[in-house]
Amino acid sequence: MSIAVLPDLLISQIAAGEVIERPAAALKELVENSLDAGATQIRAELEDGGIRRLSISDDGHGIPRAELQLALTRHATSKICSLKDLESVHSLGFRGEALASIAAVSRLTLSSRHTQADTAWQITAEDGRLEPPAPSALTRGSRIDMHELFFNTPARRAFLKSVATEFAHCEEALRRCALANPEVEFELHHQGKLVWKASLGAESRITQLLGDEFFRAARDVQQRVSPLSLHGYAALPAYSRASRDMQYLFVNGRYVRDKLLTHALREAYRDILHHQRQPAYVLFLDLPPELVDVNVHPAKTEVRFRDSQAVHRFVFHAVERCLAASKHASAAPFPEVSTTASPFTGSRITSAYPSSTTTRLAPTQTQFYLREPPLTRGEYPAAATNQALNILQQSGPSALSTNCDSADIPPLGFAIGQLGRRYILAENAQGLIIVDMHAAHERVLYERLKKQKPSAQQPLLIPCVFSASTLEMATAASVESELLQLGLEIKAVSPTHLAVRSLPSDIAVEHAETVARALLNDYAANPDASSATSITAHQETILATLACHSAVRANQALSLSEMNALLRDMERTERAEQCNHGRPTWRQLNLNEIDAFFMRGQ
Ligand code: ADP
Ligand code: MG
Repeated sequence: MSIAVLPDLLISQIAAGEVIERPAAALKELVENSLDAGATQIRAELEDGGIRRLSISDDGHGIPRAELQLALTRHATSKICSLKDLESVHSLGFRGEALASIAAVSRLTLSSRHTQADTAWQITAEDGRLEPPAPSALTRGSRIDMHELFFNTPARRAFLKSVATEFAHCEEALRRCALANPEVEFELHHQGKLVWKASLGAESRITQLLGDEFFRAARDVQQRVSPLSLHGYAALPAYSRASRDMQYLFVNGRYVRDKLLTHALREAYRDILHHQRQPAYVLFLDLPPELVDVNVHPAKTEVRFRDSQAVHRFVFHAVERCLAASKHASAAPFPEVSTTASPFTGSRITSAYPSSTTTRLAPTQTQFYLREPPLTRGEYPAAATNQALNILQQSGPSALSTNCDSADIPPLGFAIGQLGRRYILAENAQGLIIVDMHAAHERVLYERLKKQKPSAQQPLLIPCVFSASTLEMATAASVESELLQLGLEIKAVSPTHLAVRSLPSDIAVEHAETVARALLNDYAANPDASSATSITAHQETILATLACHSAVRANQALSLSEMNALLRDMERTERAEQCNHGRPTWRQLNLNEIDAFFMRGQ
């Protein structure tokens, strides 16, 4: 065959392969055109998942009659006219090929009334033939009707999935547009029925499109480090997902799938989310268009950042900080109070809590808390303590809500008892707090260990010697110096025995062997710690193992004062709402929920 230039229609059909792979892609292009035209109302009407018919109408500025044919011509656009424009593009479209591509693979009618025109005009395209413009009854804006997608390219049509699947993709595409443009009204119709109409306003739109549950678990992200800005919502791990279906990232208003950003977010969640769960977020990154290349892929869902490292760092820190700021940590800090002693010092409580709690601690509990820092480092106001103390001494804990000004009750309240030896029950101003004591303590320990890196070391008077497998012996020899950095000294004392000679100061002696074995197992299972992030990641895994193995176990009896000490610690701890595995550590049950349960006042 000799070389020949391809016919125009075929060129467009080839181009359509990249831009319009299914109805949802056409919907996205058409809605983006409406948004570029300044529309405030956009309506999508679909038949058979958009395959039989896809119609987008808007109230944008419209197209003059003289430009209707051009709009359907390949490489014709009103949005850029030079390379310089492309480098600072503010519109969603700029390639001038969407309408031409759609027209090449469907039967298309474009109707439009330009804002300065008296009447509307329409133009029809089929198989590359353009009919001359004819008058139309449209009263404002533009409407694009796409019929029978891929009717002339049966091979492509065969790739389409069921009506339900194609509709789902279309709905998702419209949802993305609606999330990014809360000031624009959107309507979705399918088979002649209204599916949804998106309400106005960012918050209500997110609640409506992503659900109440997402919104309740969502943290507000607002970060600006010129010229970068990030805003939106990131859900706490309580609302994590099995798949990535709730990850919405927008760069300058454009929905993108970007490995770099996804990685930054994954990292931001690493500490609080189980590795098999996916975080949920809706985040908008804005930056000057010169700093991001949007012309990477015809579908424009990929971007390239001029300084990708800076963007990664910025997004990571913004989200990590937002997730770390535990609800209580972000409240006003509590000033110092001096209590003479606390359960965390391992000695008797003399004044902090009512008499019923001043019992001697059992030896196991004492050991467990022995190395915790004393309660006196920074707590809720002395006055509040004393007031609470007096009330409690007079009438017991239940008097809290009636006699004590609610402002004086610490956020997680005062302990009232233990349930099933697994949960701490506490009363605060809103009602009942239920704490998973192991999970909560694990998180408190973990955060403390991380802060103290490299950990303060406590030499053991009597080394803890245990018999070790060949693998454990070998692992211990190879990671000795790394463990030492974490405050843990493990040395061989014979060919078959290891000795723990020192421990991080937060870990109780009784846990020495368990912790040492767990760590050696971790190292053996995960020998690769080469890159910078994976070293930190690895160290954090190690600290997490340390925390998990030294945290209070289920079935351990705690005194009220120990429980209160843990509650106070949680209030001071970042990320206290989840354990290291991403499970929640506490829940609130409000009085009104309990009232409702007993049908009070109904
Ligand atoms: P691009 O959006 O990249 O410019 P398109 O093929 O999507 O290319 O559209 C071609 C041109 O048609 C646009 O530049 C715009 O001027 C015009 N146009 C398309 N859709 C609309 C619309 N809904 N309202 C007003 N103008 C539109
Ligand atoms: Mg376009």
